[in-house]
Amino acid sequence: MAEEKREFQAEVAKLLDIVVHSLYSNKEIFLRELVSNASDACDKLRYAALTDPALVEGDADYRIRLVPDAAAGTLIIADNGIGMNKDDLIANLGTIAKSGTAEFMSRLTGDAKKDMTLIGQFGVGFYSAFMVADKVIVVTRKAGEQHGWRWESDGKGEFTITPEPEAARGARITLSLRDGEKEFLDAPRLTGIVKRYSDHIAIPVVLVEGDKEETLNSASALWTRPKSEVTPEQYKEFYHHVAHAFDDPWLTIHTKAEGAIEYTSLLYVPGSKPFDIFHPDRKHHVKLYVKRVFITDEAEGLLPPYLRFLRGVVDSQDLPLNVSREMLQHNPVLAKMKSGLVKKVLSELKKKAEDDAGAYATFWETFGAVLKEGIYEDYERKGDILPLCRFQTTEASGWTTLDEVVGRMKEGQEAIYYATGDDLAALKRSPQLEGFLAKGIEVLLLTDPIDEFWVPAVGEVQGKTLKAITEGDVDLSKVRGEDKAEADKPEAAPADALDTLIAALKLTLGDKVKDVRASDRLTTSSVCLVAESGQMSIHLEKLLKAHRQLDQDFPRVLEINPRHGLIKGMAAKVKASGREAIDDMALLLLDQARIVEGEPPADPVEFARRLATVMEKGLA
Ligand code: ADP
Ligand code: MG
Repeated sequence: MAEEKREFQAEVAKLLDIVVHSLYSNKEIFLRELVSNASDACDKLRYAALTDPALVEGDADYRIRLVPDAAAGTLIIADNGIGMNKDDLIANLGTIAKSGTAEFMSRLTGDAKKDMTLIGQFGVGFYSAFMVADKVIVVTRKAGEQHGWRWESDGKGEFTITPEPEAARGARITLSLRDGEKEFLDAPRLTGIVKRYSDHIAIPVVLVEGDKEETLNSASALWTRPKSEVTPEQYKEFYHHVAHAFDDPWLTIHTKAEGAIEYTSLLYVPGSKPFDIFHPDRKHHVKLYVKRVFITDEAEGLLPPYLRFLRGVVDSQDLPLNVSREMLQHNPVLAKMKSGLVKKVLSELKKKAEDDAGAYATFWETFGAVLKEGIYEDYERKGDILPLCRFQTTEASGWTTLDEVVGRMKEGQEAIYYATGDDLAALKRSPQLEGFLAKGIEVLLLTDPIDEFWVPAVGEVQGKTLKAITEGDVDLSKVRGEDKAEADKPEAAPADALDTLIAALKLTLGDKVKDVRASDRLTTSSVCLVAESGQMSIHLEKLLKAHRQLDQDFPRVLEINPRHGLIKGMAAKVKASGREAIDDMALLLLDQARIVEGEPPADPVEFARRLATVMEKGLA
């Protein structure tokens, strides 16, 4: 069979170009990445061999070997792990399968410095080899297969694949070091790098020089060591390995549970948001080990989706080693571990929130939207999750808690009010808020899409329920607010004229609205739209339509401000000249209310025609 030439996926080619042409300040991390991959490959094979021991026949002694060759200018990183066949090579070393890659790539600017910081967060994994090598050769044979393959590339857009019948099981990666990178042939330099970044690797990393072999790392699983013997640096490097991440963890939780069930867990909350955190599969990313043997990173029942930002490992003493991934569904031991882990994580978050509000705010801004899913998904833990939630409001300058908001409630205020919308700036200007602001009533400002879903699940907080400011039956008259300007509020339209106007508006607007009402919700605006109690909120309707999950219109309640000049004028006009005199204006009022909600007028052409007519009359 001859050599086969292939092109890298466009994203990979772009990534390689940046990696090679940017001065990465920390080139030595290439070794951490390759050792990390080798260790993963050994973990995978160890698991596969549990059910198929023939896979490791003759060589069950896992190790990673580093072989520098000064004469040839090459460094070899070799493992006897699972290896790759041809399809694996093409998929793993020719493309980037990570979700969110396309989005990530679109954020690259072409400015090397900025892009490098971004890539630092994303991680280049295997491709980091090209930072120090101008040619990379991978010779590999997949465990259980007869023949091996050779993958070769100079990182410039193409790679070749050739059969390599004699290849040993696992992967052997040969780097032809660039001029200027020969330091990575020095034994002390290699030793230093491995100790610094890869000491936690549970498989021996062996430096081979001639017939001398030296193990460079501790080669014991980090999570099995006592806390007092692990340095912060080691915790951090293990995080980089286990999470395939490049940032620093925000929180590290290392615990041993002993009792009815026994397990060790080393969990991390990342410092920055993973690209795929809102991927629809909502999978968590914590690896399950049984007695130090890697089992799977897809044990669905291990953690709930609302903690999917966690990274790390859980190592069970109780599960059988030959547990299959299928057996893990509905497994009672797994369910108990889950419950223990959730409890532990929530209590650690609580501690952090109490000890360092500033640091907690960073966490909240990164993962709050995910954690909030737990309010409606985990009924049992709702009471633990709610106090961990932080909110922006009309009164607080930073983040605040629900309890604090309740503490600031006004006399006579029956509900905790909230407003939902796409962004804070627009929310703060919404007309429905005016009456609340005038009375100094605090309103939660909710801008995450998830907010529409958890709010109904909250129930009561200190005996108070949550209520949308856009609900039809909000009554602010009972609240003793500050009402700074109660005395100098403008006069309202006379009651009989107002009634006539409302009747006229109802007639003209027909089934375009659910109702027309006078409101004390407004101070400076003339009109707004609100939802009938129990009706879907306007913001949710918009969200669902944007996701094509709804194609139906719900008529809303049009509220009018009886103290507004326009409304007073219209009331007088109807009384004097009859309904027809305000027909155009009535429809314009409704469109205006829609526009303020961020929606287009019902019929833009008609809207423009009416507006022109009314303006023309204004000039007369
Ligand atoms: P990641 O490790 O985050 O998946 P990498 O770019 O480091 O990304 O590696 C890509 C993939 O290539 C790995 O997921 C693995 O499937 C494969 N791979 C890399 N190195 C090896 C190896 N030494 N043995 C077997 N497979 C490997
Ligand atoms: Mg990797």
